[in-house]
Amino acid sequence: MSLAVLGARWDGRDAVLRVEDGRVAELGPDVSLREEDETLDARGMTLVPGLVNSHTHAAMTLLRGYGDDMPLMDWLEQKIWPVEAKLDADDVYWGARLACAEMIRTGTVSFRDMYWQPGATGRAVEDSGLRAAVGAPLIDGGDPGSDAKLEELKEFAERSLGQLESAGDRVTAELAPHAIYTVSEPALRWIGERAAQDGLAVHIHLSETEDEVRDCVAARGVRPAFYLDRVGLLGPRTVLAHGVWLGEAELDLIAERGATVVTNPVANQKLAVGGVFPYRAARERGIHLALGTDGPGSNNSFDLFTEMKFLALIQKHAARDPAVAPAAEVWEIATGAGSPLAPESGRLEIGEPADFLLVRTDAPELTLGDMTANLVYATSGAEVVDTTVVGGHVLMRSGVVGGVDEIRARVLERARRLGIT
Ligand SMILES: [Zn+2]
Repeated sequence: MSLAVLGARWDGRDAVLRVEDGRVAELGPDVSLREEDETLDARGMTLVPGLVNSHTHAAMTLLRGYGDDMPLMDWLEQKIWPVEAKLDADDVYWGARLACAEMIRTGTVSFRDMYWQPGATGRAVEDSGLRAAVGAPLIDGGDPGSDAKLEELKEFAERSLGQLESAGDRVTAELAPHAIYTVSEPALRWIGERAAQDGLAVHIHLSETEDEVRDCVAARGVRPAFYLDRVGLLGPRTVLAHGVWLGEAELDLIAERGATVVTNPVANQKLAVGGVFPYRAARERGIHLALGTDGPGSNNSFDLFTEMKFLALIQKHAARDPAVAPAAEVWEIATGAGSPLAPESGRLEIGEPADFLLVRTDAPELTLGDMTANLVYATSGAEVVDTTVVGGHVLMRSGVVGGVDEIRARVLERARRLGIT
């Protein structure tokens, strides 16, 4: 299968992008078409890499708008946990399909997920056409308990990995211990060993709230990143979501170990965590950085364009310096280019996966000024993304994502079953 994208602006001039077998085969102003090429008219549009959402809980679309503006523990105990106790695989599948449709619509081509029923999320990813790294969600309440409890966690992890490994080529299986305060030390140590055995990535929430740091120091005598290192879970295949309260010594350690930190500026502000991810200190140390929306229960959007603006603004504001987090840097992070662990990188180069967007250059917001700055500061994904392509497959054209009506109907059905409408 081959595809030729004709007439898009690329690198300041009109170019042709040819895709063969899902990868970029040729890109530039002097590319000639072949007889077998399917063509996509991209005149009036600009070609850009797709965006990567590096921390989310996709199927929580089912819980969007259910208990907004509540204190965190009240929200979890009164709203989220009672519904999550009833979730089945079909609920998660349709919730994740809705999330995928929203991501396609706003220019996201791949994401990293942590949620119940990971096999159902894997199927949703495959059926939607996106890519994702999906983690087996691991949690034991933080209490080591008996050997039988650890065995149960191991069995669940293996079963989930099996489902994810067979979900399809665009799904990458990994391990997702929820957090250091909800997973016991023996389980964390096993997760580290299991991940090392198969070279799996490990995705975990770390240092989201100040209480987490205080409790960790009280119970373990060290701050969260040092504890994670002690249990064998801090390395180049570790993805740390949030990192709001990381201290200087923890940043030094994370840089040394080569882990990735995913910042989630909208969710942090909506949940009022009270701190700001130490972006400048992390950049100075060369820490791999990525951007995530977190789940729609705490954001409530998947639009990475909005997320980019929040990242740039909160960091400038906190540093009292408008030169911090410039648009080009934020754009690079949002395309996954800042982390070797992004489910796919944001490089549009020969041989790389053909994951890209066509942005409407005739959008009023893009009339004048620097394109990257406009994308970060002046637009939203739904306004400017015309076409989303993953692996050479067109998932959205002219702003229309296929199958959305059915997805919406099925999600409403599932919500009625769960008693949340
Ligand atoms: Zn999260």
